[in-house]
Amino acid sequence: MKKRAEKRIGDTSARIAEPQPLMECGVCWRVYDPAEGDPVWQIEPGVAFEDLPADWRCPECDSPREKFLRRQDEP
Ligand SMILES: [Zn+2]
Repeated sequence: MKKRAEKRIGDTSARIAEPQPLMECGVCWRVYDPAEGDPVWQIEPGVAFEDLPADWRCPECDSPREKFLRRQDEP
């Protein structure tokens, strides 16, 4: 009898890091790049925009998070 090949299910260590979208302030156009984080707010690199603190604001113009829009990739 053959042994069934075990598939690795639920291997979270193999999780692929998807590129996070850049977020752009709709007021001053400052860009939040998740790959760089935000030194002003002491946000570590790799923190997605949605994982920023609820009271996070634009470091440039103090706009709330709601003012930020997903930046469109331009050719
Ligand atoms: Zn701003």
